[in-house]
Formats: sequence, C-alpha cells, structure tokens
Amino acid sequence: MRILHLMRIDNDVVEAIGNTPLIKLKRASEATGCTILGKAEFMNPGQSVKDRAGKQMILEAEKRGDLKPGGLVVEGTAGNTGIGLAIVASARGYRTMIVIPETQSREKKDMLRLCGAELVEVPALPYSNPNNYQHIARRLADELRESEPNGVLFADQWNNLDNPKAHYVSTGPEIWEQTDGKVDGFICSIGTGGTLAGVSAFLREKNKDIVIGVADPRGAAMYELFKNGVAKPTAGGSITEGIGLGRVTPVIADARVDEAYLVPDEEAVPVIYDLLEHEGLCLGGSTGVNVAGAIRLARQLGPGHTVVTILCDSGNRYQSKLFNPDFMRSKNLPVPQWLERRSTVKVPLAEV
Ligand code: PMP
Repeated sequence: MRILHLMRIDNDVVEAIGNTPLIKLKRASEATGCTILGKAEFMNPGQSVKDRAGKQMILEAEKRGDLKPGGLVVEGTAGNTGIGLAIVASARGYRTMIVIPETQSREKKDMLRLCGAELVEVPALPYSNPNNYQHIARRLADELRESEPNGVLFADQWNNLDNPKAHYVSTGPEIWEQTDGKVDGFICSIGTGGTLAGVSAFLREKNKDIVIGVADPRGAAMYELFKNGVAKPTAGGSITEGIGLGRVTPVIADARVDEAYLVPDEEAVPVIYDLLEHEGLCLGGSTGVNVAGAIRLARQLGPGHTVVTILCDSGNRYQSKLFNPDFMRSKNLPVPQWLERRSTVKVPLAEV
C-alpha cells in the first residue's frame, strides 16, 4: 500500500495527509523482546497526528454544506489541531481562527500564525471555568456565525465524531495493512481521544483479540476512568502538551480499553531523549508517554508480540521546552549531558 501511495501524485496538501510510515523502534523492541512500531504522524504536512482530524472535520463540513468558499473555521486547540485545520483551510479557500491557551509552546503558535490562522491567546484555565479556551472558542463561533455569509465551522474536536472517524477510515486501516494484520496491541495517550477511539474501533473489528491500551500523563483522568470506571484526575502534572483529558466526552464514550497505564514525565522524557540520541527520531512529549506505554504493554503481553503506538508530533515544536535544559531543570526533570553540550562549532575562516 505504501509503495503504491509513493508512486502516486497527490493533487494537493489535503491528499498528502496520512499514509505515514510505520517505524520499528529498535531499543524499545530489544528491551521487551517484542516488535514495537511507531506510526510516524510527525511526517504529515502539518507535522502531527491532528492533520487527519483537521482534514476529516473540514471535508465532512463541506459535504454537509456548512462551509462555502471564503468561510471561517473556528477551533479551541492546544495547537496541533489548529495547524491541521489551518493548512487544510488554506488549501480549500477558508480562513481559520484559533483559540489557544497561552501556556502552549511558542513554536506551535508561530506555526499557526505562519499558516495564516488568526490566533486568540487566552489564559490557561480549567474546563470548569467559563473562560476555558474551549468555551471561548464556542462562544466566538456562535457570535461570528451571525455575520459570516459563507458559514462558520466550529470544529469542536472533543464532541465532533468526524475526529475519531478520521482514524477509523485512515490510521486504523493503514496500521492493519502495514502490519499485514499482525498486530497484538495498540496503545496511545488521549487528548480528545480521537486517535484512540478511531484506531481501536477499526482494529478490534479486524481482530477481536487485540489488546487496546491507554497511556495517561499525570493530572489527567483517563487512567482512573479506564482502570476503575470513574473519570477522576490523578495527582501531579505533566509538561506534555496536547494530551491529558479530564472528563468523558462523546468521542471516547464508547471506546473499549483493556489496559491503562499512568506514565509520569520522569518515565516519558528519557524515552524521548533516547529516541533522538540513538534512533534519530526527534519527537514531542506526548510521544514519550505513548512509547513508554507501549513498552509497558509489551512487557505485559510478553516476548514475541507486536505493539503499535503513535509518534504524534515533531520535537522541533518543543525546542524551547522539552529540549531546553533551563526549562527542564525548572521542572525538576532530567537533562541528558549531550543536550547540555549541543552547540555550534566555530571554525576560523581563510583570509581572502
Ligand atoms: N499528542 C499531541 C502532541 C497532540 O497535539 C494531540 C492532540 N491534541 C494528541 C497527542 C492526542 O490526539 P487525540 O486528540 O487524537 O487524542
């Protein structure tokens, strides 16, 4: 399937979303005796797994007649969904307005502006507060609907079932074909849960015995939800961005999960540094939670199994945080020696 795709011409950036490689993670596989594979979502045009959701939500809105040329897409997002929406919107002639908590990385905000999104930065407040970014985005979309002649799409990724559908129709089938159906476990973390719900629903239809896992960072409620049945936040927090859901939403309401793991940053961050140092894979923090979770699931299944997870986004989106020694020290997280030493070598220039 991949070979066929590579031989094809994509008509636009929207068609270039998806069909990402599945990369064997060498050290995680060796450490567990399993084959641990990462779906390389950072290779999407917008450099994250959320391009797929952005594409699906806009194309479905077009089909429903909610958007006409020149229309406006509004969303509350930690950044990656906004980037996915913005690139698809540009390619199809829409504008984007993105509401983002100001705590999100500078790199994601820069990329959003670069992609033409109008950015509304708001204080990071809990979901229970009416001024949480998700509520502000909804209110803005409702207000703007009055004056926008070409339609407003409030993408609403936590409630919009086109989000998990993106993964049911693309990510899941790709994983199935790429592994030739030899996949024993799938695990990832949850932001909206679109990836987990969509991929797991597809893979379970194909293989009823597949083991589905959730890896949750500290401070979110998915570990308790899938372990003990109540969406209760765990203690502590996480520097990861884009993951960590605190409530049950329509997207995850029907998700069936077999195993849940609580993955603290102290476990996830070294995985990210190791993947960069030893495997040339430069990835963001949520991927550390995913791969650490895949290692735990592989250990539980035992040697000889194949476990797939998601490489959610590119590490260059977090240069100023995850790969900034001062930031990491301020969070009491480990900094590898090589990151401290990484600098540009200066050479004397020849006289001319
Ligand atoms: N990792 C990152 C970096 C993300 O931005 C997101 C989406 N917010 C996720 C993981 C989780 O994806 P999903 O919304 O499909 O659960």
